[in-house]
Amino acid sequence: MKRQRVIIVGGGYAGVKALQTLASSNLCDIVLIDQHPYHYLQTEAYELIANECSMTRVTIDLVALCLSYGEHVTFIKDTVREIDFENKCASGQNSCHPYDYLLLCSGSRTAYNSATPGLSEHSHGVKTLPSALSFKHQFEQRLYARMESEGGWCSEPFNVVIGGGGLSGVEIAAEMANYIRIFHKDNTLTCDNIHIFLIIPHQSVLEGMEPYLIKKATQRLTQLGVKIINHSRITSVEEHTVMLNNDKSLCFDFMIFTGGIVASTLTSTINVSKNKKSQLIVDEYLRVGMYDKVFAAGDIAELREFDGELLPPTAQSAEQSGIFAAENILASIENREMRRAKIRMEGMMVALGGNYAAISLFGVIRISGLLGYWVKRIIMRGYRYLLHRQCTKGMEYLSKTKPQCHTGF
Ligand SMILES: Cc1cc2nc3c(=O)[nH]c(=O)nc-3n(C[C@H](O)[C@H](O)[C@H](O)COP(=O)(O)OP(=O)(O)OC[C@H]3O[C@@H](n4cnc5c(N)ncnc54)[C@H](O)[C@@H]3O)c2cc1C
Repeated sequence: MKRQRVIIVGGGYAGVKALQTLASSNLCDIVLIDQHPYHYLQTEAYELIANECSMTRVTIDLVALCLSYGEHVTFIKDTVREIDFENKCASGQNSCHPYDYLLLCSGSRTAYNSATPGLSEHSHGVKTLPSALSFKHQFEQRLYARMESEGGWCSEPFNVVIGGGGLSGVEIAAEMANYIRIFHKDNTLTCDNIHIFLIIPHQSVLEGMEPYLIKKATQRLTQLGVKIINHSRITSVEEHTVMLNNDKSLCFDFMIFTGGIVASTLTSTINVSKNKKSQLIVDEYLRVGMYDKVFAAGDIAELREFDGELLPPTAQSAEQSGIFAAENILASIENREMRRAKIRMEGMMVALGGNYAAISLFGVIRISGLLGYWVKRIIMRGYRYLLHRQCTKGMEYLSKTKPQCHTGF
């Protein structure tokens, strides 16, 4: 039987799990295409922005990862712009990549609503590695510029506004509040007039999540001094002012927006059923539209739990769907029956600044505080450690096969 060529677009949580599943079968040639040569660990972005780790801690080298699986796995750095379903080809910047099976895992981006003028121009995000790095840099620059201009004092308040009370908004608000607290303590800073405002559209943060997590997050944010402005939507943003729907406004020195996601721009060129977030509608086997050899996993797809309940876009559902989609591709290659994707939320972990996290696992284990922090850290580090170990094999393979450079010494 001719080896089938499977293309995975996107090496995030879904794409990497799919790659591992497909590679373990040795049934197909796999090509992973990503616009970046790394897998960005978004779930650890809060540590990066709080200066608790470096860039290397939140990235996994996709080139090394692919090399580690041997000759049947290839990495291509390219941005896929459209898909030619008729000719089975994923068009990149300069070339078209032919496939027998296609798995779309290109994730999502921040939902900057075009009906909210000024939002994308005046706010920062953390959804991509460059944005998280520039965020960190620009925040510190603005803070120092203010201190410089006021001779070390912040007689006027320095306001940080965060739009969005979901997982990322809450984690960033808590981490920044904690960072500012430590920054102030460690440096005996005279600039202690820094305020963090979290603007949320609902009554409470983490809308739709377990009451335990909502309670712990609200308590922690309040303890860290974050001011939660609920029942408020951002209607427009100017250089230093954010306008809200209740005719109120707030001045800010630094603004972050995390209010929701829309599927990756690739979906705009794909003519199949989509939801309001531009996510692809998939069937129970994660196939897209009428194309039986095209699958989607992760944030790019509208994922549902087994009982039909909509799933929030999380790394957890991305990983599980990546595995299901890859297993169904293998089943299809071998003419076996495919399995319904039984994705389930096994729990949720919320980092709440410094050594504090709230966790709910399997609906029975609920932990918060330092213990919660360590459990979250061990799970996150475990994910990174295993991938890193796999990458090491890729680097060893490269050092054996790469021609040696003779320097003459
Ligand atoms: C700050 C923050 C904190 C979070 N915390 C948590 C958490 O604690 N727990 C949790 O479960 N979830 C969390 N999430 C959500 C989680 O990170 C996402 O749900 C997850 O990343 C989705 O995985 P994915 O594989 O679908 O997409 P991604 O991980 O976004 O990967 C998509 C990949 O596709 C690539 N790509 C995109 N477009 C193209 C293209 N056209 N061509 C080629 N490549 C392309 C990208 O470069 C990227 O590598 C958090 C998100 C953020 C931003």
